[in-house]
Amino acid sequence: MRMSNMLISTLREIPKEAEIPSHQLMLRAGMMKKMASGVYNFMPLGLRVIKKIENIVREEMDNAGAQEFLASAVIPSELWKESGRWEVFGPEMFKLKDRNEREFCLGPTHEEVFTDIARNEINSYKQLPLNLYQIQTKYRDERRPRFGVMRSREFIMKDAYSFDKDNKGLDISYNKMYEAYKKIFTRCELEYSCVEADSGAMGGAGSAEFMVKSAIGEDEVVFCSSCDYAANVEKATATPEISEEEEMMELKKVETPNVRTIEELVKFFSTTSKKFAKTLIYRADDRVIGVMVRGDREVNEIKVSNAIGGAVEFEMADVETVKQATNAQVGFAGPIGIKVDELLVDEEVKNMYNFIVGGNETGYHYVNVNYGRDFEGKVGDFRKVVEGEKCPRCGKPITIARGIEVGHIFKLGTKYSESMGATFIDEDGSPKPLIMGCYGIGVNRTMAAVIEQHYDENGVVWPLSVAPYHVVVVPAVYKKEEQMKAAEEIYNKLKELGIEVLLDDRKERAGVKFKDADLIGIPVRITVGKRISDGEVEFKLRSGKEPDVIKVEDVVSKVKEVLDKCSIK
Ligand code: ATP
Ligand code: MG
Repeated sequence: MRMSNMLISTLREIPKEAEIPSHQLMLRAGMMKKMASGVYNFMPLGLRVIKKIENIVREEMDNAGAQEFLASAVIPSELWKESGRWEVFGPEMFKLKDRNEREFCLGPTHEEVFTDIARNEINSYKQLPLNLYQIQTKYRDERRPRFGVMRSREFIMKDAYSFDKDNKGLDISYNKMYEAYKKIFTRCELEYSCVEADSGAMGGAGSAEFMVKSAIGEDEVVFCSSCDYAANVEKATATPEISEEEEMMELKKVETPNVRTIEELVKFFSTTSKKFAKTLIYRADDRVIGVMVRGDREVNEIKVSNAIGGAVEFEMADVETVKQATNAQVGFAGPIGIKVDELLVDEEVKNMYNFIVGGNETGYHYVNVNYGRDFEGKVGDFRKVVEGEKCPRCGKPITIARGIEVGHIFKLGTKYSESMGATFIDEDGSPKPLIMGCYGIGVNRTMAAVIEQHYDENGVVWPLSVAPYHVVVVPAVYKKEEQMKAAEEIYNKLKELGIEVLLDDRKERAGVKFKDADLIGIPVRITVGKRISDGEVEFKLRSGKEPDVIKVEDVVSKVKEVLDKCSIK
């Protein structure tokens, strides 16, 4: 491609709205343009990267035995009503009506559509297993679109859905996707981890996220410092801390005027926050839920929501609800005599001795409280794991890092096939619900994540596998005929060999061309300058510091050598 013919619009300034490197560089390199909040148009260079990633995804999905498909993005509401998600999805769904007032949405995801296809097309166990995927645009009216295409309102997703006759089959399908994802992200040269993820109120089934470690990531990931345990903080567990054993002492109610917060209590009782258990009150639809964790811990709301079987609306209770549940002002909630529909007790609290809790009476606390003797509840893991706690597998300290979720694989089981009646006839002649899995990759987010891990102060440093072009040939002084001619020749030769090459034949100064080549991140730059009169050109890798001077006749073999390293022609 001749750059004089290309729609390319690089920017020297960092656009104000862009906070993170990938967003800044995608705008500065002119890969995409913003049209509205969270809505972007991809320009030719950016689109080439998107297509490269799509093709890596496509190849690995095909290798794993999945079949490409393309569903409509416009989905009738009836399907969502069948699964019960028309309301549940909430304002994140873009809804619309046709001229006859029939309701539709722009698909935020396609479980319903693929379940519908499966129930129409699959009749017998003989047609199983089946894995269908598509690479398609998704629409989500995100509450906070940000960081460019990291979290946009329109984005390209590869979504796949597997159908099996039993759980053993699902395990195989799931593992094939797991392996395919590893290959995909490795080929994109991402440093990633596969972490255990929360699988929601359905529980147990299994789900993993592919996380790219990055300081700007929106997810927190727990890693063990010693073994390979890794989990999303939403799901992560740690070995509970065991309190030192003590003789149980007599329960007492103590007057604690104006002492409400843990800090105030620590001062008042001159002890540590580990000697307290706090009781938080939540509203889960029309239920009121109490949750107890040790004074220095935080509640993990996802674990709580899962433990109570999920809720459409789940939030901290309002002041009135707290007053009703505790018979007291806010700040004095405790487990003894509390009026809640369910009381969840973190396992660490169960193991504590003679601790302090709110008195369910304004201005009072109980001391010498012990689980089992003074109160009971549903014991489980309801706390947020923190750095330094013990790994649940090996007991070594855990660390917490930020990550970008680029992919997600999920064992759905029969959630959709049951609600939507997607059955098949098994070998024994009886109808059974299809066992499903779903598997997503965010293509644009993957592109942004690649940049987050591959850039320097001059711009993007694309890995060869996803670079928009592999080579750029730059005549240093366009007015010098000798340089232009030699550059043209090199360009033509490389093009004939099927190499993805740009010729920067724009009427610009060499400095501008070099800056642009660096900014857009082309892996190999060949500069034709003064030395051409001696039959020499400069050969520079974007990832390297200094250029090499090579003979013109060696250009092809040098380029091939670089591309071969990455097994690209
Ligand atoms: P998140 O927690 O980041 O909102 P999600 O759990 O909603 O993600 P999924 O429904 O599992 O995401 O979608 C599959 C993949 O699609 C994600 O792993 C991510 O790569 C991508 N993705 C999801 N939402 C967006 C978005 N708003 N913009 C860009 N990519 C997205
Ligand atoms: Mg989301």
